[in-house]
Amino acid sequence: MTEPAQKLTKAMLFAAKKHTDQRRKGERAEPYVNHLVEVADLLASHTDGKNINLICAGILHDTIEDTGTKYEELKKEFGENVADIVKECTDDKSLPKAERKRLQIVNAPHKSDEAKMVKMADKISNLRSILDSPPPDWDLARKQQYFDWAKNVVDGCRGVNAGLETEFDNTYKRGVKSFGMKVA
Ligand code: ZN
Repeated sequence: MTEPAQKLTKAMLFAAKKHTDQRRKGERAEPYVNHLVEVADLLASHTDGKNINLICAGILHDTIEDTGTKYEELKKEFGENVADIVKECTDDKSLPKAERKRLQIVNAPHKSDEAKMVKMADKISNLRSILDSPPPDWDLARKQQYFDWAKNVVDGCRGVNAGLETEFDNTYKRGVKSFGMKVA
């Protein structure tokens, strides 16, 4: 049997390699893996590290969407449960961006508890990135739009992890404070 720590470091290495050439959109163009580790850390700290598959899915959540990794590859390397959570967190890239964003809001309430937690952690990390290293070409309206969309997605994920909800709400409030955003 694979020990949890082994499974986690294997997922970290797998994701680091897959995302090697990808950077975050912020002014510091952070390595993409920073985002993945942050998502995994949020999940681990708000669930007392009890669910290794959830934490691995957090590390791997963007591999299908952004690196062309196949579901079957994740299933073979990390098992069906991890692969299923990642798949649930993957947008259908054949659809236009606006439609993909709309579907995230519509579909959020129907996701598994694990996928809801990954989605909340993902949005927390993305809001923190906008606050701490904003994309240089984003004006206030675009930031506000992203914050409000993220809040709509998270509102559909509520009820499975109070700690992640509170963390999201506090991060959203930081945006209201620093940017003078309107509360949705
Ligand atoms: Zn992400």
